[in-house]
Amino acid sequence: MSIFAQLTPPVLPEGTARLRAELREFLAESRRALGWTPNSNFIGVFSAEFSRLLGARGYLGVTWPKEYGGQASSALDRYIVTEELLAAGAPCAAHWVADRQSGPLLLRFGSEAQRRDLLPGIARGECYFSIGMSEPDAGSDLAAVRTRATRTPRGWRIDGAKVWTSNAHVNHYAITLCRTGPAGDSRHEGLSQFLIDLKTDSVRINPILNLLGDHEFNEMVFDGVEIPADRLIGKEGDGWTQVRSELAFERSGPERFFGTFHLLTSTVEAARARGDKAAERALGRLIVHFLSLRSLSLAVAGVLQAGGDPGVAAALVKDMGARFELDVLEVARDLMPDAATTPDDPLGRAILQVPSYALRGGTPEIMRSIIARELGLR
Ligand SMILES: Cc1cc2nc3c(=O)[nH]c(=O)nc-3n(C[C@H](O)[C@H](O)[C@H](O)COP(=O)(O)OP(=O)(O)OC[C@H]3O[C@@H](n4cnc5c(N)ncnc54)[C@H](O)[C@@H]3O)c2cc1C
Repeated sequence: MSIFAQLTPPVLPEGTARLRAELREFLAESRRALGWTPNSNFIGVFSAEFSRLLGARGYLGVTWPKEYGGQASSALDRYIVTEELLAAGAPCAAHWVADRQSGPLLLRFGSEAQRRDLLPGIARGECYFSIGMSEPDAGSDLAAVRTRATRTPRGWRIDGAKVWTSNAHVNHYAITLCRTGPAGDSRHEGLSQFLIDLKTDSVRINPILNLLGDHEFNEMVFDGVEIPADRLIGKEGDGWTQVRSELAFERSGPERFFGTFHLLTSTVEAARARGDKAAERALGRLIVHFLSLRSLSLAVAGVLQAGGDPGVAAALVKDMGARFELDVLEVARDLMPDAATTPDDPLGRAILQVPSYALRGGTPEIMRSIIARELGLR
């Protein structure tokens, strides 16, 4: 089927409105109870309390089978949950990666023991994961990873370093891509994924502060880290295929265009308060753009729901979403020239943070190169 035929947004199932209403009530309650303030960066605020509450209400592992702690509901229900969390600016850093991509990866490629050990904890909002892909010389060019896993009598020995690992200092596990054999002509052979226990394996975790001075990133150093054999995920040498499936989950969700949602709504409110008719055209254009991105991302959720591979469509959401977030920032700066821009003010935080959103999960140049290849343009 052509990419264009796949991209028809599905009709939301019956029950969506009720789910949305329940979520909004839950979010208001949890905000009163835990006192969180809205933040558009989905991995910006770590709250184990919030993630546990979310898990207890059945809003994590939404699509997973019940035997692993999931709800056996649809990808579209999960989409609604994700969208409401983002619109509220809820503190999602603890569970986000585990629920979005590590759990689905384990469900698809993990051993039965790994699924039984890890998925129920993720669904309860108690077990958190990091992504161990990037290295100093292997970001966009992921096949260039040099972190090596070597077989030992007991299992594996890992040597190397990962960088930009979000929340490795607070999470429990990192799914880490390593070289285990020759790269072959494609350079995609000989890669494998491993489950690294960040609390008990002897990984050194060094903080890296972002432009705001916040500790979100880390360097993970593996200096002869010994792990047991059962930490291999999937098949030895299949890491490239596995990592690609993980990236489809990472790139296509609504978080790819919600990063400036609260800046957009506050700019609309400011323009309304000033009775600024001239601002309406610029804001209207942004809102229409937002709605069309939402249709595209919803269409991707529909493809996932039908068991398809959203490949190029996920890259489109990621690239166009990143461009949209920067457009919101530019319009907000134009329309609120007097707004304070220190790192303590919302606009100042956005100025320092939003450009980095385009990089995580794959840069614009890389997304466009994937799109061009899939469309047969190169
Ligand atoms: C907020 C944030 C959170 C992150 N969290 C994680 C995480 O948890 N785990 C993790 O593993 N990584 C994480 N990353 C890293 C992220 O995935 C990488 O930054 C990204 O893949 C780009 O890699 P790089 O930084 O090495 O840049 P490089 O690959 O060095 O790219 C530098 C520039 O060159 C361009 N470029 C590179 N190759 C090409 C090419 N072939 N054609 C055209 N242009 C090219 C790129 O587009 C970019 O503009 C995070 C990054 C950010 C900003």
